Amino acid sequence: MSDEGSTDDDGDGGAFTYNGGRVDPGESANIRYGISETYLGDPIRIPVTIVNGEYSGPTVFLSAAAHGDELNGIEVVREVAHDWDHSDLHGTLVCLPVMNVPGFLAQERYLPIYDRDLNRSFPGREGSTSARRMAHRIFTNFIEPCDIGIDFHTSTRGRTNMLHVRANMDDPTVARIANAFSSNVIIAGEGPSGTLRREATGAGVPTVTIEMGEAHRFQRELIDRALTGVASVLAEFGCHPDSAVHWPGWRTVIDDDDEKTWIRADAGGIVDMKHGRGELVREGDTICSITNPFKEEEDIVDVEAPFTGLVVGVLENPVVYPGNPLCHLVGLSSDTLTALRREYRAAQEERSQSQLRE
Ligand SMILES: [Zn+2]
Repeated sequence: MSDEGSTDDDGDGGAFTYNGGRVDPGESANIRYGISETYLGDPIRIPVTIVNGEYSGPTVFLSAAAHGDELNGIEVVREVAHDWDHSDLHGTLVCLPVMNVPGFLAQERYLPIYDRDLNRSFPGREGSTSARRMAHRIFTNFIEPCDIGIDFHTSTRGRTNMLHVRANMDDPTVARIANAFSSNVIIAGEGPSGTLRREATGAGVPTVTIEMGEAHRFQRELIDRALTGVASVLAEFGCHPDSAVHWPGWRTVIDDDDEKTWIRADAGGIVDMKHGRGELVREGDTICSITNPFKEEEDIVDVEAPFTGLVVGVLENPVVYPGNPLCHLVGLSSDTLTALRREYRAAQEERSQSQLRE
């Protein structure tokens, strides 16, 4: 038997097959698929839900928790798989809510086996390291048979970021997914080697990464926005033909080269952060102050914004050594700034009107 999944494309919706099973059009299946074994010799199995629509259309994977402590995406994938009405689905959804099961059980980012990073191990290889073997089983069975994919992440523990898409905007289909996801911010770039999105895209399955919030949390507002993004991508690719693509109101695409806009601490100490993720700061504004337990005036170091921009990522754990990142500040074009200010004003008016009503 082949170790590889596939989708027949015979017009009226084909069966989804993987090593050991098939899911026919109009059916869904919850699978526990073995990708490795523990020290006790027990199987390590990842949960997979395949929803094969009655009608033909693209095969889309939604994956989360390649980093075991990044939980927001798990809820996004779970809700799409189990709470949505798929009676009108054109195509197939391959839902992988928890890829890094050992990391998830330990609530750690990496595989707790020599701290390997599953999201640097794709596409994986049979006969290689434990991480690459796991990556290989996931990749060949559930990623390669797909047409497009969305992989969900959060910021690393101790930091948070606003919801944004990371995408290789030079690939037209990747750009189409990224634009359809309807986030305000897209960070362009192909991503590090071994990441699911880069390797899947390289293997002909255009894929984006969604970054949203913090590790170890369910953040309802971000989960809801990501669900809107998934619905919008499914509309764009004809999976739900009666649904519309969502426009986020304003959008900025940032080059990966601008990553150096992570502002780093020049002093060690305790951080008093003045701005949260998604906030606009003006050039010269104090982003945060770094102090120490004595909090004497001469010990306080103010960190100023070097330019007007958007706080995309920010420190949550308020302690730093010199050189640690404080916030990811991103410059905006004047058009984006205007649209953003308009949105802020509208939100403010809505708030003051609802206060009047009370
Ligand atoms: Zn991650």
